[in-house]
Amino acid sequence: MTNNTKNSTQKQRVLITGGAGFLGSHLCDRFIEEEYEVICMDNLSTGSADNIAHLIGNDNFTFINHDVTNYIHVGGDLDLILHFASPASPIDYLEMPIQTLKVGSLGTHKALGLAKSKNARFVLASTSEVYGDPLTHPQAENYWGNVNPIGFRGVYDEAKRFAEAMTMAYHRFHGVDTRIVRIFNTYGSRMRIHDGRALPTFMRQALRGNPLTVYGDGSQTRSFMYVYDLVEGVWRLSQSDHVEPVNIGNPDEITILEFAKEIIELTESDSEITFEELPKDDPQVRQPDISLAKEVLDWQPAYDRREGLLKTFDYFKKKALKDTAHIDE
Ligand code: NAD
Ligand code: UDP
Repeated sequence: MTNNTKNSTQKQRVLITGGAGFLGSHLCDRFIEEEYEVICMDNLSTGSADNIAHLIGNDNFTFINHDVTNYIHVGGDLDLILHFASPASPIDYLEMPIQTLKVGSLGTHKALGLAKSKNARFVLASTSEVYGDPLTHPQAENYWGNVNPIGFRGVYDEAKRFAEAMTMAYHRFHGVDTRIVRIFNTYGSRMRIHDGRALPTFMRQALRGNPLTVYGDGSQTRSFMYVYDLVEGVWRLSQSDHVEPVNIGNPDEITILEFAKEIIELTESDSEITFEELPKDDPQVRQPDISLAKEVLDWQPAYDRREGLLKTFDYFKKKALKDTAHIDE
């Protein structure tokens, strides 16, 4: 991707919204490595300054504390915008339903407006949640989904569906150069141990020897991807010319009960398993069809679950040693 007003010595500039979050901060690292100048914009609502502390002072990194539902001002050129701002954990978006709807709608509108005015490429972080509680399995990009618009999860799912529609409208009507990545469950370092998602919850419980709380009978499935693979997929998509949505996920599917057992085994914990009520509208199955990503990005996951889980557990253990508050109930 080149901006024709630049000479060969000028760096490409990327704006990463949600850049202080779990995924956004890993993307900041990757784009710095790729010799971009990175502008990270975040209101720190679910992200943390800790995630980007190591980048502060780097000449190629700037942090702007800003809520992207308001007008976004960035001085100078931009080549690329990665729009990742949004609560992502069910606990977060159930606590912040209106902010979730606003960042998916108003925030996406503002970020697209900025892309149009700067003539920048725009990448939307969408989600497997656009498929809702899917009626086809595995989920390919041509499946339109099964979402309850008025359910508790609807605030997130519909915000992302709207964001996709808005992105395609800016592409078709304004000619903005857009990409859409549908991300499936991702895990790794910098997840918050209290974010309520299954993996950090199970790891926290296993570390403390507490029972792992499986919701429902645990027969629902998910397919977990290590963060390194997600970052590689987003990088490749950002450099590709593929406009239609692309699934990025690890097709290795597992039931939540088996997943809880696997974490107990891997962490050599004495924890038991307890069963709690299944949240409403919790998808029964989820597995990405990644044929398109293989074809257009030559991408597939490099990490198997065992390897990724061990690395992530290592992170949580170190974090727990440094700061016991992160691990306390
Ligand atoms: P996260 O909560 O760690 O990061 C989101 C970041 O966005 C946070 O730093 C938060 O402070 C920021 N943010 C939220 N609202 C904002 C606003 N109005 N203005 C500015 N910043 C705002 O979550 P994550 O897991 O890193 O998810 C990042 C993106 O990826 C989200 O768009 C999410 O929907 C998408 N996604 C994530 C997953 C996953 O498994 N982690 C799966 C599918 C999609
Ligand atoms: N889950 C669980 N126990 C927990 C947290 C989550 O059994 O303590 C279940 C949850 O109901 C869902 C699955 O694990 O079926 C994955 O949940 P997560 O919040 O990680 O992601 P999402 O539902 O958004 O895929």
